[in-house]
Amino acid sequence: MASIGFIGLGNMGGPMARNLLKAGHSVTVFDLSKDAAAALAEAGASVAGSAGEAASGVEIVVSMLPAGRHVEAVYGGNDGVIARAGEGTLLIDSSTIDVATARKVAAQAADAGLAMVDAPVSGGVGGAEAGTLTFMVGGDADAFAKANPILGAMGKNIFHAGGAGNGQAAKICNNMLLGISMIGTAEAFNLAEKLGLDAQTFFDISSTASGQCWSMTSYCPAPGPVPTSPANNDYKPGFAAAMMLKDLRLAQEAAALAQAPTPLGSEAASLYGLMEATGKDGVDFSGIIKMLRGDL
Ligand code: NAD
Repeated sequence: MASIGFIGLGNMGGPMARNLLKAGHSVTVFDLSKDAAAALAEAGASVAGSAGEAASGVEIVVSMLPAGRHVEAVYGGNDGVIARAGEGTLLIDSSTIDVATARKVAAQAADAGLAMVDAPVSGGVGGAEAGTLTFMVGGDADAFAKANPILGAMGKNIFHAGGAGNGQAAKICNNMLLGISMIGTAEAFNLAEKLGLDAQTFFDISSTASGQCWSMTSYCPAPGPVPTSPANNDYKPGFAAAMMLKDLRLAQEAAALAQAPTPLGSEAASLYGLMEATGKDGVDFSGIIKMLRGDL
């Protein structure tokens, strides 16, 4: 069993840290929210007074923070994770952040002689609670091998995506594709309906024809065909449009730096941006179909 420092105990980090405790690891936590840390203390964690303190004297550090600037703040500086972690400590950042910052922080860790992986997740709060997250990991093979059993206590599928930053790259490329395919699926169901074609009939045809995709068969934005999809639960998330927009914006940032044309990714970001601008981004991302129908 390992000694682990865990930083960032929000909707995702809280249950992930609990699963590490359940697996028998010894966990020291830190969060700016004292309440969040206290809840983990009740579950058996020790509480540190700073991120640096949580990172000192442990074998592994895991962080689950909102965005790149929080990761830079937590890892950098005199009392930061990199300065305070001892020799041989492995750093795992599971936050979803921009590829450039992930690579920059990993390089700072390497300069200090520390191995680091970026390991963003998919699976949402439900997956974090159930310990069934998918991890997409960027970093060298040794660091990946060392991270694997720790990630295995919090997730089910663990992929090595390549070097530093490639976990973030995999995550945003996947979610950009998901955002685009959801909008396409919503447009098709909306048009079908306006042409007098019943949603279930269109689903039966298209899900076995070339229009088939995950957004249709597992998460259909039209109510009816897929009983478990948020469309049948008043578009409650699930995966909120605001979270999809965050990932689409990260993809656009990366695309600009990499000079990769992503016209549909850009359009998807604009459309989810409209949901944000109208205060409707708390609904599930499949609720974009309601915006197309003019009833959001
Ligand atoms: P959250 O806002 O619920 O939690 C973030 C936590 O980090 C908060 O408790 C906050 O107090 C803490 N924090 C912020 N700055 C800090 C600092 N400097 N030091 C210590 N603690 C600090 O967010 P979340 O939903 O848990 O998401 C975390 C990450 O996981 C994000 O990058 C998000 O994009 C990603 N993610 C979330 C989901 C989801 O469904 N919520 C799914 C996949 C990925």
